[in-house]
Amino acid sequence: MINLILFGKPGSGKGTQSEFVKGKYDLIHISTGDLFRNNILNNTDLGLLAKSYMEKGDLVPDEVTIKMLEAEVNKHSNANGFIFDGFPRTTVQAEILDQFLSTLKLSISMTIALEVDENLLIDRLINRGKDSGRADDQDRSKIQNRFEEYNNKTSPLINYYKNQNKFFEVNGVGDVNEISARIFKTIDNNI
Ligand code: ADP
Repeated sequence: MINLILFGKPGSGKGTQSEFVKGKYDLIHISTGDLFRNNILNNTDLGLLAKSYMEKGDLVPDEVTIKMLEAEVNKHSNANGFIFDGFPRTTVQAEILDQFLSTLKLSISMTIALEVDENLLIDRLINRGKDSGRADDQDRSKIQNRFEEYNNKTSPLINYYKNQNKFFEVNGVGDVNEISARIFKTIDNNI
């Protein structure tokens, strides 16, 4: 079983690359951002709560996010493995993910970080916002706030996974197929 975390700043290509990795290794793709956006579309209580945070570019509180993630994993008890996209984003989320997976006799195989310069990310996000209509992609101050959330709360996870020898960096700039080839190579060489 392969359980991967795709890691990186907003706009680094986690969602796009998750689809390639999911296809190649037959994994279940869980994107907490997509799950929140689906809840918002369906006007659920969870969606209503998440919306107020997401619109500002703030992280949704850990308790809510963790509960949603666990429910999603539990829906796929026959999975070959999982690809976690946008989760964990805080140390608490990472610790609880490890504990939760161990209750299922599972563990994280590796974390792959997509490396992209912030200036390039801002351009990518603004472009994505034009097509997707995502409010959090259309406003520079919200984008900046997401980077700050990443730098303050998510970047400590680099050391968390390095300490477990599970952290691998991949250059996230270039053609999408080129980047997925780099990811496949990293997985195949280190799994
Ligand atoms: P991006 O990586 O481009 O920011 P995502 O779809 O992963 O896009 O996330 C969008 C928003 O959803 C985040 O800014 C945050 O508000 C919320 N979110 C997603 N995943 C998490 C998480 N693990 N913890 C807290 N909030 C999250």
